[in-house]
Amino acid sequence: MIRIAGAGLAGLATAWELVKRGSEVTVHDAAEPGAGSVSRYAGGMLAPFCEGESAEDEVVRLGRQAADWWAEITPVTRRGTLVVAPQRDRAELTRFARRTKGHRLISTAEITELEPALGGRFSQGLFFAEEAHLDPRRALLDLEAKLVKLGVEIHYGTPAPEDVELVCTGGAAALPDLRPVRGEMAILYAPDVQITRTLRLTDLALLAAKAST
Ligand SMILES: Cc1cc2nc3c(=O)[nH]c(=O)nc-3n(C[C@H](O)[C@H](O)[C@H](O)COP(=O)(O)OP(=O)(O)OC[C@H]3O[C@@H](n4cnc5c(N)ncnc54)[C@H](O)[C@@H]3O)c2cc1C
Repeated sequence: MIRIAGAGLAGLATAWELVKRGSEVTVHDAAEPGAGSVSRYAGGMLAPFCEGESAEDEVVRLGRQAADWWAEITPVTRRGTLVVAPQRDRAELTRFARRTKGHRLISTAEITELEPALGGRFSQGLFFAEEAHLDPRRALLDLEAKLVKLGVEIHYGTPAPEDVELVCTGGAAALPDLRPVRGEMAILYAPDVQITRTLRLTDLALLAAKAST
């Protein structure tokens, strides 16, 4: 029996890989479902090439498998990522292009064709056609349901035993050389604006808007 501490993305994904290989697995989470996990707040971007801007090649290589991995579990929208910058930040777009792969440079006309709601606002963009996105909350529920169906017991609301085989407790795992990075999510209600894929704005390097469809 393999016991995992933490029922966030890392714990549940690891449980899935182990159970598919024939292991018996239980998962223990100290909090009630979703309450202690950052995974519910993820943007859901499956964006290995964009991550490559600041991550090592291995992250890009493994990340390219993510869309197919998730597609076995939950709906994945494969419409790519569009990276744009206002005219004054063209240099930033060039820098982003230099540091990443898997994109092509597109013009205003093509940006408008991909996302009519952006019509004429940006003169150039980068299109990462292979990237995808999903709904993280649904993905977690779908993953959990699949695990339960395969006989995995998931215990919420009680601390994991001290001697678990795998620790996937996210920010609570005080690892010496890692520091947690805090993220924020804002949900905008804008029924008149239709955006159908992940949109990244380079001038606000960390601001990424995900399609609501
Ligand atoms: C705002 C935001 C946006 C993001 N956007 C993206 C994105 O678009 N694409 C992407 O790939 N990544 C994104 N990420 C990153 C991604 O969400 C995280 O890397 C991932 O969810 C971390 O999962 P985890 O399982 O390691 O941690 P968590 O989801 O935090 O899970 C850890 C679990 O451990 C439990 N726990 C803690 N201590 C104990 C204990 N002692 N015993 C038992 N259980 C315990 C907690 O209750 C929690 O449920 C984003 C993150 C944030 C915050």
